[in-house]
Amino acid sequence: MTGKDAGRGHGESEAARPLFARAAIIGMGLIGSSLARALARKGLAGAVVGCARSEATCAKALELGLAEAMHREPAPAVAGADLVVMATPLGAYAGIAEAMAPALAPGAIVTDVGSVKQAVIRDVGPFLPEGVHFVPGHPVAGTEHSGPEAGFAELFEDRWCILTPPPGTDEAAVEKVAGLWRACGSMVEVMDPMHHDKVLAITSHLPHVLAYTIVGTATGLEESDRAEVVKFSAGGFRDFTRIAGSDPVMWRDVFLNNREAVLEMLQRFTEDLTALQRAIRWGEGEVLEDWFRRTREIRRGVIEAHQAGSFDPREAERAAAEALDPGKADHPEG
Ligand code: NAP
Repeated sequence: MTGKDAGRGHGESEAARPLFARAAIIGMGLIGSSLARALARKGLAGAVVGCARSEATCAKALELGLAEAMHREPAPAVAGADLVVMATPLGAYAGIAEAMAPALAPGAIVTDVGSVKQAVIRDVGPFLPEGVHFVPGHPVAGTEHSGPEAGFAELFEDRWCILTPPPGTDEAAVEKVAGLWRACGSMVEVMDPMHHDKVLAITSHLPHVLAYTIVGTATGLEESDRAEVVKFSAGGFRDFTRIAGSDPVMWRDVFLNNREAVLEMLQRFTEDLTALQRAIRWGEGEVLEDWFRRTREIRRGVIEAHQAGSFDPREAERAAAEALDPGKADHPEG
């Protein structure tokens, strides 16, 4: 399956010298398609070839000009590529690695965007042939939306990308992948994979467990109360529904693949919840106030680090459109 405009569909190239001659992106959803757009906009790859499971996603990716060709199997997509980026849900990684391994070019760099890193090294590493460099990565950027249409080139700007190369990884390959993410606007940090999984368990995975739980609890209420939950959701519930609206398959795979670290954070959370429960029960206002002051400091730190606010610049445009004409606004989250 081939497209007309060779991955140059979104904005003109801002740089003339490609870092890679041919990039293969396996998985053209939110992250894969955002990377394809950033590669095209910055001129970072001579050619971009993609892979997705379904005919529909392949057709959509070509229509959007995300790749010059789309394949439904990984092997033909990676043939001749000097960069391979795995961007599917984690549960598909082992099968993809096994299928693409024989077609990988000597000297190619394989990287990924998965939200858990020890499991990726476990699932992909053993299949990669000698002479292929493996540099696992995780752009800490995303939205609750999925699919090729959800992506946008700015997604990675001013966000961190964490690389977790296994010991002995070729340093030049690590630097090349770091250069790729920097060119996409990210800040790069190299980290031990176990440490990554622990940090992300608290900053990302635990908040998702809590949002899925809170919104799930609401769905278990009686019919009349459920209606009120939606009606008065601006009281705080709305913010949890954004996170709980994230892709079910992607998040299933995150929890299945980062079990230990998530369970450890849930244990700590349960202890803190019990402490707060006790303070509320016994009317310990000072305890509650101290606690909330500390958490407000964290929020201020997040804002100062420029990690607050929307990841999607189009949301600000939608909000502005709504302010101007409430009737015409686009409401992507219903
Ligand atoms: P997504 O929007 O749901 O897209 C997943 C893509 O993978 C789709 O194009 C899908 O194709 C394809 N795919 C699934 N199984 C495949 C297979 N066996 N072979 C080939 N293609 C396959 O997912 P996403 O949100 O971009 O997430 C992708 C990865 O990024 C995950 O590992 C996730 O942990 C990581 N990540 C996500 C976020 C986030 O906020 N979403 C942030 C950072 C990292 P079809 O459409 O044809 O099924």
